[in-house]
Amino acid sequence: MAFPFEKISGWIREPANPCPSLKGDQHADVVVIGAGYTGLSAALSLREQGVDVLVLERDFAGAGASGRNAGHLTPTIGKDLPTLLRMFGEERAQALVRFADEAVEHTEHVIERLRIECGYEPNGNILASVHPKHEKRLREAATVALRLGGQVRFLSSDEMRERGLPRAFLCGVLEKRGGLLDPGRYVTALRKAAIDAGVRLHEHSTVQSIDKGKPVRVHCDGGTVSADSAVVATNAYSGVIGFMPRKVVPLRVSLFETEPLGTPQLAAIGWNGREGIYTSHEVLESYRLTARNTIIGGSKVVRYAYGGKLAEGYDPGTFQIIENAFRERFPELEGIPVQRFWGGWIGLTLDFLPMIGVVGDQKNVHYGFGYAGHGVAQATLTGSILADRVVGRAHECEKALARRLWSWPLEPLRYAAYQAITRTLYAVDARTDRQARKLWTEKPAAPRRASV
Ligand SMILES: Cc1cc2nc3c(=O)[nH]c(=O)nc-3n(C[C@H](O)[C@H](O)[C@H](O)COP(=O)(O)OP(=O)(O)OC[C@H]3O[C@@H](n4cnc5c(N)ncnc54)[C@H](O)[C@@H]3O)c2cc1C
Repeated sequence: MAFPFEKISGWIREPANPCPSLKGDQHADVVVIGAGYTGLSAALSLREQGVDVLVLERDFAGAGASGRNAGHLTPTIGKDLPTLLRMFGEERAQALVRFADEAVEHTEHVIERLRIECGYEPNGNILASVHPKHEKRLREAATVALRLGGQVRFLSSDEMRERGLPRAFLCGVLEKRGGLLDPGRYVTALRKAAIDAGVRLHEHSTVQSIDKGKPVRVHCDGGTVSADSAVVATNAYSGVIGFMPRKVVPLRVSLFETEPLGTPQLAAIGWNGREGIYTSHEVLESYRLTARNTIIGGSKVVRYAYGGKLAEGYDPGTFQIIENAFRERFPELEGIPVQRFWGGWIGLTLDFLPMIGVVGDQKNVHYGFGYAGHGVAQATLTGSILADRVVGRAHECEKALARRLWSWPLEPLRYAAYQAITRTLYAVDARTDRQARKLWTEKPAAPRRASV
């Protein structure tokens, strides 16, 4: 069976007039590599402070994860908050929660200040269970989040029903901060704001190598840029250009989008609050409504390619898995066609936390990456933090991220570890799904009765 596949995503198309690719030797105060949320936010913030900025983008701005993601603007940070607390202790975990909250607030501020029309709906996101056995885990997550200063609320099954959430989602933790946006419009607006502010953007300009020094020299096929400082904003792609390949690895995740729901279908699922939903699986499923009344969802599978390469493209096995999961969660929408699938790469650090820092003898090559699939807010804030670092200012929020940076093991151990870990996680999730299926097929009323 063939699956309809988008090379980039359902959110964004290449601009009709891409910015010219780099030609010859050029100079700038700062060269930024990568035009996603991190790079564009850094470039815009620097330009607004009068700095001459040149951005190099291998494809077009937003062609990376920033134009492909699901658009949940979320204060989620780390693997989960109980793990964060165990790993880092109360004080640091609180600071990380503040960082993630600040990232959401900062992004909302950017959207407002630049009057970005990205359909932002500040309705929050819900981490939801599909089986009552996850209720204890979610209650604990809510308790820990509150203890660490998070803005959350546990939602019992009755509250979930009162809010009209689709019935497959039993209880949950509502993240009150954040909501949903159109990531393609958001990144396209950042691109326009950067160009309007005078940022020199070169698209279709792939960086091949970086010579750290003063000046730092960045080489593309068509030319070279020398600059006083560089900002490396290539997130999941960083290892591919040999930049800190042991700190961040690319994982391929996939999404689907349905055809638009008609009025009876919308009425059948409820979901009037239009909150984003992710599930409490080990490898989560995500679902959201869009402004065009489609549902976008996916993940559930993460793919790593040997050697930290980018696991490419069309992946029927994964597409079937995420479509099947969707059909189980939304039986009311039986037969609704899926109009397309796509995927992209998230950047994962070993502790699931972003890394911000500087390398080079001259301490002038700054970097920010590793948002573990939560980068809509965090990458936006990180861009501003990097801009501050370049001009010699310390941003209050970055202190939370200062820590010993762990390295991923070398191959073949890394690939073997990925296989062993994902196999275990998928097995746990498959069991949860079997149990959830049983609840609905054998005792349709059970999920409601089983929770409080
Ligand atoms: C399918 C998917 C769903 C996601 N869902 C969510 C979500 O709902 N909520 C959330 O918070 N996060 C989500 N994320 C994560 C989020 O999208 C990212 O964390 C965020 O976009 C990272 O932004 P960035 O600018 O750092 O990286 P990117 O947007 O990936 O930008 C990096 C840029 O660098 C460019 N580049 C790479 N190599 C080179 C080179 N050699 N020379 C020049 N340019 C180069 C790339 O083309 C790219 O444009 C999702 C990610 C994916 C893939």
